[in-house]
Amino acid sequence: MPERFDVVVAGAGPAGAQCARDVAARGYDVVVLETEPEAEFPRQSNKSTGGTFPSMMASFNVPDEVVMNFTDNVVIESPNDYFVQHNPGAVLDFGAFKRFLVEDSREKGAEYWFDARVSKPIIEDGEVVGVRFNGSEEVYADVVVDATGPAAPLAKALDVCDLDRNNQAIGIEYEFEGVAIDHDEYADLHDAMMLRLDHEYAPGGYSWIFHTGEDTAKVGLCYIRNDSYQRYSEVDRTIDGYLDHWLETDPRFEDATRIEGRQHRGSAHIQPPASLSTDNFMAVGDTVPTIDPLWGEGIHKGMKSGRAAAITIDNCFSRSEPDTSAEALSTYDDLWHEDVAPRMNSRLRMTHLLYLAPNDRYDRLLADLNRLDHDTLTRANDGDLRAITKLLHLRDLPVLARFLNQYYRSGSA
Ligand SMILES: Cc1cc2nc3c(=O)[nH]c(=O)nc-3n(C[C@H](O)[C@H](O)[C@H](O)COP(=O)(O)OP(=O)(O)OC[C@H]3O[C@@H](n4cnc5c(N)ncnc54)[C@H](O)[C@@H]3O)c2cc1C
Repeated sequence: MPERFDVVVAGAGPAGAQCARDVAARGYDVVVLETEPEAEFPRQSNKSTGGTFPSMMASFNVPDEVVMNFTDNVVIESPNDYFVQHNPGAVLDFGAFKRFLVEDSREKGAEYWFDARVSKPIIEDGEVVGVRFNGSEEVYADVVVDATGPAAPLAKALDVCDLDRNNQAIGIEYEFEGVAIDHDEYADLHDAMMLRLDHEYAPGGYSWIFHTGEDTAKVGLCYIRNDSYQRYSEVDRTIDGYLDHWLETDPRFEDATRIEGRQHRGSAHIQPPASLSTDNFMAVGDTVPTIDPLWGEGIHKGMKSGRAAAITIDNCFSRSEPDTSAEALSTYDDLWHEDVAPRMNSRLRMTHLLYLAPNDRYDRLLADLNRLDHDTLTRANDGDLRAITKLLHLRDLPVLARFLNQYYRSGSA
């Protein structure tokens, strides 16, 4: 007989593991099915730089042991300028962080089945009642949560998400030692997370250096495969080729060497969610997708979505007549739009606009960032149109025209 749980979660990433952690803490039976083997976990799914902020660490009780380096500043670079903002953060060891989430949710009562690749939902009388994994194996539950990141086998089968290849951002990163963290020609990157806007190294995206201690750093880049990427890319250069090009031409990497076995790569979709839930089913994290489109902050967002799903589950189970219908689970949709990823559409618009701008515009943007007050910048980052207008110039009209053209053609406006 297949086993039965209150909740089945597919995927032990930050979103799924956090959902299981909260569901188990409320006393429900929950099992997480993870495709990777436990002995090597996380292997391919060890994909993230792990840059995060104190609000995430405090809200989710994440211990300092999984932090590689506490940072003081966020630095934004353009080809010829930089902007430094004091903003405390933490660079996680993403693998250790994922293992902590598993361990902690197990202590709260969650079960984990590793080596369990989820393939599709089990549907009875038109409703999801469980999942199939490893070919023909089955497990049943009142609520099923897809937290498999961009793989999304359940959400796709149920038409809850429509992840579009044209909106896919791809990322790659290596950890290095021997990096010149405080090079004369650049900002001092000691205890900093640096993001660089420069199409030469990341066409239609950005590259980064996150300091992890002494002369070590995480160095990577990501870009969206969209019109901007087409416009600024070198036709025959792969993402690895772009990283090599940066490593070869930036003097900060002259004496840098790769640290064996420390590479991370993956993808996420930069688009609004089609929907988030249906009868007996919710999708969380990058499956939806929940990641912040502008700077790729997906860990905190994903965990918040896992928590919103757990709150909804508790709400549905604790009614006098437990109800996991689409209508009851739509509380999750409300929480997602209000608390997890508010203003998603305006942040998407800012993202498209930012990555359509040419390199010389990035220099001007940084000059403006250095000129404007903190309050205006915070509001602009939150998508406030009046604050964003302060960052626009007359010479931006061609970029704006291209943006509007692309936006209306894609039907996103
Ligand atoms: C190169 C790179 C750098 C990044 N840097 C940052 C950063 O600095 N800060 C930040 O906040 N975010 C960053 N992100 C984004 C962040 O890592 C993701 O948004 C976050 O990991 C999403 O969490 P998730 O739980 O939704 O999905 P995932 O992390 O993708 O986890 C999904 C889990 O499901 C498992 N799985 C997949 N398919 C199946 C299946 N069929 N059956 C069972 N299990 C399955 C996977 O093995 C994995 O464990 C980065 C991403 C990349 C690619």
